[in-house]
Amino acid sequence: MTITAIYPGTFDPITNGHSDIVKRATKLFKHVIVAVAANSSKKPIFSVENRVEFAEIVLADIKNVSICSFDGLLVNFALESNAQVILRGLRAVSDFEYEFQLAGMNRTLNPKIETLFLTPATQYSYISSSLVREIAILGGQVDDFVHPYVKKAIENTLIRKRN
Ligand code: ADP
Repeated sequence: MTITAIYPGTFDPITNGHSDIVKRATKLFKHVIVAVAANSSKKPIFSVENRVEFAEIVLADIKNVSICSFDGLLVNFALESNAQVILRGLRAVSDFEYEFQLAGMNRTLNPKIETLFLTPATQYSYISSSLVREIAILGGQVDDFVHPYVKKAIENTLIRKRN
């Protein structure tokens, strides 16, 4: 195991699906960097500091993982971080088109960095950060989808937003 992989995303917030991908990756790579995108086009509800903090808490028990934020081009950040692999998760065919395009673009920008995909365990394959947020906003339970710390943070944020 000599390869460092970078797992980029918005992580707004980190879900059990993201964690499942990280756990699988840490068994395959020397080191995994979870890279939280500061300037995501998705307009996150949590600040980048919060999103990093959640990931740090959720992944605290895993040794060969580190969490950081980044802005700018992912391939540049991967290079600075000595990562040779970009890791992405594939849940369903619907993810494929966007991920395929992204991988192609990143390869054009830096042909030395490979994109690899991992799939989560079936029970996580329908989880997305946006669905989790939507369920919480509508008063549903998100216990099965996120870490208890994240659940609390979602509830607090939503209560603050409502008042
Ligand atoms: P981005 O804005 O970069 O898509 P996300 O936080 O939504 O950021 O997702 C980061 C990566 O994790 C993407 O490759 C996405 O497909 C993957 N991912 C998201 N949710 C899951 C899940 N439940 N299981 C596996 N992979 C997932």
